[in-house]
Amino acid sequence: DKFKILGLSDNTLKALREKGFEVPTPIQEKIIPMLLKEEMDIVGQAQTGTGKTAAFGLPLIEKIKERTKTVQVIILTPTRELAIQISEEINSFKGNKKLQIVPIYGGQSIEQQLKKLREGVDIVVGTPGRVIDHIHRKSLKLGDISYFILDEADEMLNMGFIEDIEKILKNTNPEKRMLLFGATMPPEILSLAEKYMREYQFIGI
Ligand code: AMP
Repeated sequence: DKFKILGLSDNTLKALREKGFEVPTPIQEKIIPMLLKEEMDIVGQAQTGTGKTAAFGLPLIEKIKERTKTVQVIILTPTRELAIQISEEINSFKGNKKLQIVPIYGGQSIEQQLKKLREGVDIVVGTPGRVIDHIHRKSLKLGDISYFILDEADEMLNMGFIEDIEKILKNTNPEKRMLLFGATMPPEILSLAEKYMREYQFIGI
């Protein structure tokens, strides 16, 4: 089993079999062992369709704890469609691990989101504006996260979300690991990486 060699648990391997994933994609082969072992941040240049969601989603599922009652992971995406898609994909990997994964995006009822956040969420997949809204309401606390992930960072730059991202970053703890992905790496994104990330590994696909 080519996924097993990467270091994934039986629980996750079973979930992958049920999904019909048989062979890891190149980015998965590179990133999964790195995230399972090393303590380095990652900047990954990869298009959508390369399997990058599973590349970071699978190790996250392995690494985080069950139901700690505090948010452990925040994943920022440019659009609500992407937030829903990533949230569903990661949810499909969790097997019998007790994890709550919730998409948080503008346009959806805030009451519903508040209820879920009150009940306890392990992984938030959100769009920047609504995430800031929840930080202001104190319904979302990011002071104890293990992972901060920027997906399609170049798209978020194009959509004018850089200031929002910086605002969100300032509400997080310094010892988190950061992962940044984009199809392209414009200078503004690279300087964001320089400013907020620790020593990072650059992965190109
Ligand atoms: P992504 O690039 O993360 O948006 O993934 C693109 C599509 O490929 C999604 O529908 C995934 O479910 C699927 N996918 C990702 N990794 C694999 C894999 N190793 N084998 C088969 N399908 C995959």
